[in-house]
Amino acid sequence: MDQRIIGMIENVVGKEGYSTKTADLYTYGFDASIFHNSPDIVVQPRTTEQVSEIMKIANSERIPVVPRGAGTGLCGSAVPMKGGIVLAMQKMDKIKNVSVEDLWVDVEAGCVYDDLNRELLKHGFFFPPSPGSAEACQVGGMVATNASGMRAVKYGATRDFVLGLTFVKADGEIVRAGTRTIKDSSGYQLARLMCGSEGTLGVITEVTFKIATKPKKSASCLCGFDDVEDAGRCIAGLIAKPLIPASCELMDSVSIEAVNKARGNPLPACKAICIVEVDGETDEIIHRDLKIVEEVAKEKGAISVTPSFDAKEISKWTDARKSVMTSLSALKPGYSSVSLADDMGVPVSRVPEAVKAFQGIAAKYGVTIATYGHASDGNLHTKMLIDPTDKDEWERGVKAVDEIFDVCIELGGTVTGEHGVGISKAPNYMKERASELSSIIAIKKAMDPENILNPGKMEQWHGSILTHLRYPCKEII
Ligand SMILES: Cc1cc2nc3c(=O)[nH]c(=O)nc-3n(C[C@H](O)[C@H](O)[C@H](O)COP(=O)(O)OP(=O)(O)OC[C@H]3O[C@@H](n4cnc5c(N)ncnc54)[C@H](O)[C@@H]3O)c2cc1C
Repeated sequence: MDQRIIGMIENVVGKEGYSTKTADLYTYGFDASIFHNSPDIVVQPRTTEQVSEIMKIANSERIPVVPRGAGTGLCGSAVPMKGGIVLAMQKMDKIKNVSVEDLWVDVEAGCVYDDLNRELLKHGFFFPPSPGSAEACQVGGMVATNASGMRAVKYGATRDFVLGLTFVKADGEIVRAGTRTIKDSSGYQLARLMCGSEGTLGVITEVTFKIATKPKKSASCLCGFDDVEDAGRCIAGLIAKPLIPASCELMDSVSIEAVNKARGNPLPACKAICIVEVDGETDEIIHRDLKIVEEVAKEKGAISVTPSFDAKEISKWTDARKSVMTSLSALKPGYSSVSLADDMGVPVSRVPEAVKAFQGIAAKYGVTIATYGHASDGNLHTKMLIDPTDKDEWERGVKAVDEIFDVCIELGGTVTGEHGVGISKAPNYMKERASELSSIIAIKKAMDPENILNPGKMEQWHGSILTHLRYPCKEII
């Protein structure tokens, strides 16, 4: 980047507010996906006004800008594929106002999810989505990907909590969208449009979230099965009862084996596991709901049912579930756990069919796939174990991925339940959303006519997904 532009940026954020050091550029070229590409400069703004000034420079000089939260995204959406400016939001992390009477909190986009909840818990409230990356991801990144997690089945995704937000448009205009009221029926819901926009429509600088009361009691039940389809049927059976669990996590045999190998057998050895959490205000409610879980699990063929009120035991189970992604590599030395088709959503009643189909596809292409996820909202994660130096294995992996996505779309599902599109989902997202594409393209053009905001992502990605890889095979097709 030329000195003239660096000087203009320095005038806005000062010497401490940016870096062009090689190590920083390299680091900010990653997120948690399979991709890497370095930006030309990393800028860390402290105010909405600074973001606005940076955007004015970028827009007039036609420089790509990638807003960045914590870089925990799994699809490459925060990787600056075309270089330019990475706008890293971590210095805008203030919780500005908690209004419990009005049920909202005003928070800056760079605030970490767990930090926000630590503050809200002091008042007996919480912001429920609970992504697996809770201790790192930022609320701005959560809005931009419409993140969710274990508790979405009962409480909803990030989108369901956004009352309003402030964002900066590509030309630097500062927009306050939405309200601070629980209800809002006034026209286009611009704040909602920013949910899932992945940094392509504006830079989110502040958010007003609705907050929820934290239930006083909870307990969990670990159900083991010798057939993954039975586990899927158990989940659908619970919902149909009706019992909406606080969370319900599914793990298949590959996930269980990997976690038991990597972490010293925290789980019973079986073909599938459901960890069902129930919550409520009284012990009576918890006991009643746990009994329903036990009954349904046995009716659907559970071979073991272990209810627990013990926080230590429950966190051993949830830690085990959260560690699938990292544990998978323990199954084959030299192999890496990669995010390719990593978070499809299907209707809950189709979860058993989907999981069975994924296993068939893995066998067909000779790749190892672990399936797990927040299955009570139909959200299934698949991680693939790949030798990252083997081109042939990558190619078989991508063929498997395409078939997995086809199955999900056929079952009435989506290629991404919570992680977003970025690059790795782009081709199949366009397939899934074919009838929305012309409107999507028109919205992007209207909001960002110079195409400087996170260019080349989502509907703009037309190449292979095996490109700019962070692994030794950098380009495959
Ligand atoms: C171990 C692990 C577990 C995970 N578990 C879950 C899970 O359970 N549920 C889930 O939904 N996701 C999960 N994820 C994915 C990821 O954590 C989420 O997508 C998260 O919301 C990303 O937040 P971030 O701050 O890291 O954003 P980043 O990865 O930095 O960015 C993600 C996208 O948001 C855009 N963006 C970031 N901040 C802004 C902003 N202020 N304004 C405009 N655009 C912005 C970026 O440009 C990019 O397109 C997981 C990831 C990991 C590594």
